[in-house]
Amino acid sequence: MRSIIQCPHCGFKAVEDTLATELLADYRCLACAKLLQAAGADPCCIFCSFGTVPCVQSKNKGGKVSRRG
Ligand SMILES: [Zn+2]
Ligand SMILES: [Zn+2]
Repeated sequence: MRSIIQCPHCGFKAVEDTLATELLADYRCLACAKLLQAAGADPCCIFCSFGTVPCVQSKNKGGKVSRRG
C-alpha cells in the first residue's frame, strides 16, 4: 500500500510504501530536510499523521476494540 506523505513545511510529496517500511515515528523530508514527527490526536506514525493512507496497523483500530489493560 502506497501512502503519499506531504511535508507540512514545504508541501513536498513523497511516496512511501507502508508495507515495506516499518512504522515511522519520524521522517525526514527529502526536499527541505526537516524532520516530520507523528502528531495529532492519535500519534501513531508519520503515515497516520501526514500520509494519504494510514499504516496497516491502524486498520485494526476499526470497529470495536475491547482490550483490557
Ligand atoms: Zn519539506
Ligand atoms: Zn500509523
